[in-house]
Amino acid sequence: MAEPIPLLLSETLRKAHFAHGFSTRAGGVSDPPYDSLDFATLRDPVALRENQRRLAAAVGFDPASLFQVHQVHGPALVVAAGAPAQVLQQQADALVAEPGSGHAVAIRIADCVPVLLADPTSGRVAAVHAGWRGVVADVVGAAVRHLGASGGVPSELLAAIGPCIGSCCFEVSADVGETIARATTPSAIARREEARGKVFVDLRAAVRSQLLGLGLSAAAIEDVPERTSAGCTRCDAKRFYSYRRDGDASGRLIAVIVAR
Ligand SMILES: [Zn+2]
Repeated sequence: MAEPIPLLLSETLRKAHFAHGFSTRAGGVSDPPYDSLDFATLRDPVALRENQRRLAAAVGFDPASLFQVHQVHGPALVVAAGAPAQVLQQQADALVAEPGSGHAVAIRIADCVPVLLADPTSGRVAAVHAGWRGVVADVVGAAVRHLGASGGVPSELLAAIGPCIGSCCFEVSADVGETIARATTPSAIARREEARGKVFVDLRAAVRSQLLGLGLSAAAIEDVPERTSAGCTRCDAKRFYSYRRDGDASGRLIAVIVAR
């Protein structure tokens, strides 16, 4: 048997007994340049199945209960039910697993922000894919409001913000930067290069600001891994895939959480 794959974990979610994980590129079977734990859905089905099997074994869920969606950088949310292959066709960027279902919900990223949410009272969970467009479209709000409408109390929800592109590397036009800042917080703009008309955006700070605005407590929002360049998908080529760095040669990381 292969070694268990290394996953990045949230202490907050772990202590609340939610099985979950953020993948790195280590521990899978995909060939270069996607080596080795690639979760892209339309590439190599045999490698993907084995990578998903390893993920399921490491996190602790049935691989047949892994639900994903067709991610489109919008605000739509889907509740996992029925056949995973059909749910994968649905366009959405937030995915909810119902308590007691045993369902695992996952989203794929290569620079965008993965957010895992959990309601410790009900056991209901959500996985959210939030790039800058999703942040502006308020997909994070859609997920938190859904958990709230299902009986969750926002101030008691738990959140883990996973590996994404850091403010060291996330350069956008000043217009895009202002759009993100208006939708979140002025401090989402980490640095300006006025002469070039460019700004550097801190997407983690933007998502954190949205979560706080939705009523989550600061203590319940965890950054995984640390908020340094070591946690930036573009900087850390050894651990992470990055679309900004590798373009079409980039694999996809996964963030997954299981309802309890
Ligand atoms: Zn970076």
